[in-house]
Amino acid sequence: MPDIAFINGRFLPWQEATVSIDDRGFQFGDAVYEVIRTYRGAPFEVGAHLARLERSAYELSFPQPYARAQWIQWIQHGLSLAGYQDAKIYIQITRGVAPREHRFPSEGRPTVVMTIREFHPLAPEIRHTGVIVCTREDLRWGRCDIKSVNLLPNVLAREEARRAGVFETILIRDGLVMEGALSNVMAVQNDVILTAPEGPRILSGVTRAVVLELAKKDAIAIEERFIPVDVLYSANEVFLTGTTLEVLGVVGIDGKIIGSGRPGPITKMLAARWALLTG
Ligand code: PLP
Repeated sequence: MPDIAFINGRFLPWQEATVSIDDRGFQFGDAVYEVIRTYRGAPFEVGAHLARLERSAYELSFPQPYARAQWIQWIQHGLSLAGYQDAKIYIQITRGVAPREHRFPSEGRPTVVMTIREFHPLAPEIRHTGVIVCTREDLRWGRCDIKSVNLLPNVLAREEARRAGVFETILIRDGLVMEGALSNVMAVQNDVILTAPEGPRILSGVTRAVVLELAKKDAIAIEERFIPVDVLYSANEVFLTGTTLEVLGVVGIDGKIIGSGRPGPITKMLAARWALLTG
């Protein structure tokens, strides 16, 4: 089955899917993106992802290239061409092609790219054992709520995790836990879920929102507030949420064991609820 490429309203062979070297996405990282995954061929929470894409584009004053219904048609068409049951849909919108000049170009239309590739979910053993992570200073800008391709601090944080031989890097600002380099972070203390509030310091994760809804249905208390890194170390449980990770237990941070050293009961329950929801 083929990986699928789409540029500006056209599906085309991968080798022919190229953008200009004058594209502002390439020149300035002047672009926003989304990652959506499918479960058994159907895109999960596609409305929430497209709403976030629209919001990111709006916040950076990009014209909206397509209405949501049009997007859904493109996605469905791409999925039918690709034929994967588990697919990762990547969408990027840039401010378009213009001579290199920082100010917005006076005219120009956005470049829209979509790719659809097979998605390989995490191995079940990793979910069973949980993962080890490290913390690093959050070097990102003040609008982390915009899902922009300006990902250099995230790239560096992910590379540090790789070098440290751990799964993810949790980003700390002024001693407080923000989120992971590609995930949201939740801690459980005395049966209460603690997680950073929505706002400019974190990306408002689609998975985060669904998991908090699942927790509410199970009458689990939630406090959306920034917690000091010490509270994270001493939490009963910690877990990550994200489109590609789902609900993933963290059992060690910076060499300290979290809880029992195994994914805890609330993590396991939410992971089970997630599995039920997504089939
Ligand atoms: N936080 C950051 C910085 C991310 O990059 C991501 C996903 O890529 C998330 C959180 C999780 O967001 P979502 O659940 O929408 O995938």
